[in-house]
This record gives sequence, structure tokens and C-alpha cells, in this order.
Amino acid sequence: MADCIFCKIINREIPARIVYEDEKILAFDDIRPQAPVHTLIIPKEHFSSLKEADESRAELLGYILLKAREIAALKGIEASGFRIVLNTGPDSGQEVFHLHFHLLGGRQLGWPPG
Ligand code: AMP
Ligand code: ZN
Repeated sequence: MADCIFCKIINREIPARIVYEDEKILAFDDIRPQAPVHTLIIPKEHFSSLKEADESRAELLGYILLKAREIAALKGIEASGFRIVLNTGPDSGQEVFHLHFHLLGGRQLGWPPG
């Protein structure tokens, strides 16, 4: 999508520190990290949030979750533990409307989140 910053990262129109890529997904480090490891995992296909997902996305969403575990291993936090966050809609604070999972770890994470 033309005005989407994450589509621009996929298309290499803006730079990012890319952690993992395959034909379906891209993972790159968050520009404002909230933990020692803060990586975003996105589908290459643009859709704005979980609200726009129906059953046709079920396989892709499951794929992202399983890849998140692999990316946690790549980042060295599989054993210490990690959190996956999917902000959806106004109360969540979602700012970028290309669906993305946050992968956070590398320190003790507080609960409940702020
Ligand atoms: P959310 O609040 O769930 O929509 O999260 C959006 C995330 O995208 C925030 O954590 C931002 O720091 C991050 N972000 C925004 N622009 C970029 C960028 N160009 N490269 C990497 N991360 C970004
Ligand atoms: Zn997009």
C-alpha cells in the first residue's frame, strides 16, 4: 500500500535492521525499542489489523506465531522467555496500520502491561 511505512520497509524504500525474511513475512528491529530485544514481525501482504483478518488469514497468522518462536531463538531469547504483542485498535495504542506482532524480551517484562 502506497502510504504504509511497513510496506515501504518490505519494498526497501526505507531502511530497517532486518532480522528474518521469507516469501510470506519480514522481521525487523523496532526503531524505538522497549526492551533489549524488540523486533516487529509483519506479513508481506498488507492488511491493517487483526480486525481485517478473517479465516483466509488463519494459516498466515499461525505461521507468523511459529516463526516468532524461531526469531526469538535467532535473537537469543528463546530460553530466557519473550512476549508477543498484537496491538489492535485505539485503546491498544496501535500506531501503524499494517498488522505487526511485537516480539519483546531480553529483560524481565512487567505484568500487567501499561
Ligand atoms: P504499534 O503501536 O503496535 O502500532 O507499534 C508500531 C511500532 O512501530 C512502534 O513500536 C514503533 O516504534 C515502530 N516503528 C514505527 N516506524 C518504524 C520504522 N520505520 N522502523 C521500525 N519500527 C518502526
Ligand atoms: Zn503495509
